Amino acid sequence: MKSEKQTYRIKVTGLVQGVGFRPFVYRLAREFGIKGTVDNRNDGVSIMACGKKGEIEDFIAALNAKSPKASQIRKIDYHQVAYVPYDDFRIIKSSDNFSGNEITEVSPDIAVCEECLSDMKTQPHRLGYSFINCTNCGPRFSIIKALPYDRPNTTMSEFELCDKCEQEYKDVNDRRFHAQPVACNDCGPHYELYAEGGIIRDIEGIINRLSALLENGGVAAVKGLGGFNLICDALNEDATLNLRKSKHRDGKPLAVMFRDEKALRKYMQPSAQELQMLKSWRRPIVIVQTSDFPNKVVTSGFNSVGCMLPYMPFHYQLFESTTLDALVYTSANLSGEPIIKDDEIALAAFESKMPVLIYNRKIHNRIDDSVGFVARGKSRMLRRSRGYAPSPVPMPFNADGILAVGAELVNCFCFGRGTQAIMSQHIGDLKNAETLEFFEESIERFSHLYKFEAKAVVCDMHPDYLSSLYARKADLPLIEVQHHHAHMASVMAENALDEEVIGVVMDGTGYGTDGKIWGGEFFTGDLSSFERYAHFAYVPIPGGDAAVKEPWRTALSYLYAVYGKELFNLKILFVQTLDKSKAELIIQLIDKKLNSPESSSAGRLFDAVSALLQLCEVSSFHAEAPMRLEDVLDGTVSGDYPYVYKQRTVDFSPAIKAIVDDLTNDLSPALISAKFHNTVANAVLEVCKKIKEERSLEKVVLSGGTFQNRYLSQKVENDLEAEGFKVFFHRTVPANDGGLALGQLAIAAKKMFNNL
Ligand code: ZN
Ligand code: ZN
Ligand code: FE
Repeated sequence: MKSEKQTYRIKVTGLVQGVGFRPFVYRLAREFGIKGTVDNRNDGVSIMACGKKGEIEDFIAALNAKSPKASQIRKIDYHQVAYVPYDDFRIIKSSDNFSGNEITEVSPDIAVCEECLSDMKTQPHRLGYSFINCTNCGPRFSIIKALPYDRPNTTMSEFELCDKCEQEYKDVNDRRFHAQPVACNDCGPHYELYAEGGIIRDIEGIINRLSALLENGGVAAVKGLGGFNLICDALNEDATLNLRKSKHRDGKPLAVMFRDEKALRKYMQPSAQELQMLKSWRRPIVIVQTSDFPNKVVTSGFNSVGCMLPYMPFHYQLFESTTLDALVYTSANLSGEPIIKDDEIALAAFESKMPVLIYNRKIHNRIDDSVGFVARGKSRMLRRSRGYAPSPVPMPFNADGILAVGAELVNCFCFGRGTQAIMSQHIGDLKNAETLEFFEESIERFSHLYKFEAKAVVCDMHPDYLSSLYARKADLPLIEVQHHHAHMASVMAENALDEEVIGVVMDGTGYGTDGKIWGGEFFTGDLSSFERYAHFAYVPIPGGDAAVKEPWRTALSYLYAVYGKELFNLKILFVQTLDKSKAELIIQLIDKKLNSPESSSAGRLFDAVSALLQLCEVSSFHAEAPMRLEDVLDGTVSGDYPYVYKQRTVDFSPAIKAIVDDLTNDLSPALISAKFHNTVANAVLEVCKKIKEERSLEKVVLSGGTFQNRYLSQKVENDLEAEGFKVFFHRTVPANDGGLALGQLAIAAKKMFNNL
């Protein structure tokens, strides 16, 4: 009977386009006997559903429960409308009216799916086809130029669909229904290997040549999803040394791609959560503990390795044809420059040195591999890029029309679209000219893609950050934000906090309102304002930026503050191996207050202790000293060192003294490092308790690069929770400056819209 049936309009918002959502709705509707239509809108997917009330309720529940794995439903709104007598369920044409303010989400790139891997072996037109994809997998953000997400708006536009592919594209029952990058051997992109003056074009020949090369210790440059990679046998030291040479790379550990889970377990000790992260469709690099990865040229001596699993069809093809367990998989760029994305540039840079593999589909948006780790059973980001960007971060309030330009060294920018923050991929160090160009170009590309027009811009108050200079040049209302307030706001925005909290922010460098360098900070405040409640004691940093690269300078400064010139009599190796004339010079700098800015930085404190332990006296990559200090620590040690907290200042001089004593007594770096970490955690807990007593605040937010230290963040979080605090930390964006723009955006949105 007609009257039993009702019609509902259902609106699904979130990441629901380019991820096989409409065919999923179609199949589900059939399954539940629902009649009606589904179509794409600016702001999501719109469904008209006609059926019995119970059926419709079950249908909506199933929409939520069974949605495609790469989709992300944020909201399902539905209401009853006038009865419409549909006689079947159909997918209708996308509405391409993009005038509205709300705009659909752009899918990140998705790792190749199991079904496609199997199709590669069975579908005649896709046998061994390296660019196979479907609605559930394949390139997305890296190839998109404009919205709506349709083939002509991607770099697939140059390839005309063959009849077979077109049939699949149009067949709603096919997994490739409306898969925009759909392609096959006959009509899609192809690889070309430039090797020894010749070009190999058949994929079998390419794979054979590459696997022979890699097995014999060669290095190759290969075009990946978001840019070029350099690869070699990860267990071959000579090959890895050669790879490092061609990259002019510092001593930073290299990422490794394992053939599969079994190979990974042979060398690594992944936890269940780490494996889950490694195997997710986002396929990030995950930092995993190793007992004995044999190639120290890869690990740079660290006890953990950035691991990943294959995510492009090509990766699987390569591993299938070689016996190698693992490949170094690192971005092809010259140190400091952005990852190379264009064929001509890669050929010019590498063809004379090694085989170069290219393919004839353009990468529109370059994007590095993401890097993450697991702490306290939760995944966290170190670098948010491929597989994550440009998924929006939901904001607790409107942030529309604001551009946040981020920091300088680890740049990511961000802008507001309604109540969503769209975070860019990892951009990098803006001091590098090419990276600065990449930054400006990406802002333009994002603006075009999202039809975004900035009405205001927000930047760090640092006088010289290149991102800030960019913002100040724009002819728009400008908001300048203190660095650590932005860090604090970033973790608040991510956790939808809009109230007064305690903010503990620890990082390397940030410009303070007193003109000094901050970085060991205890704030109270909200998104509108903050009070600097307490901080780590100021220490002169002789040489300023030079000391960041040479942690021994900061170590010397700490020793000088504690011992004066008596420091030269200390019976510790650090002092005994000091270049005395250089040291005297540094001390003069400090005494005369020449180029020795005062800093309360937690990063510099970790630098100093790392150098005292001679783990890293001169740094060869960003944050090496604190990373080495964490890497050696013995997690079973519960001891600690004294420190003094008075007049709202945490003074670690007593700890430095105790560390010198332990060093004099030949205690191990493993033990000293653990005791030092415990000391910093103790100080955080004590100051937070003081604030709680005085201000009755119980919520603590933790941010800043120092909280990427797994041991420290876990200990601080556990200790605070044990004392009854509610603790909030970063999960979606990195705790380092890569997450800063989100906080800038939140503060500016609060200011502009006074979101009360
Ligand atoms: Zn697929
Ligand atoms: Zn085809
Ligand atoms: Fe910072």
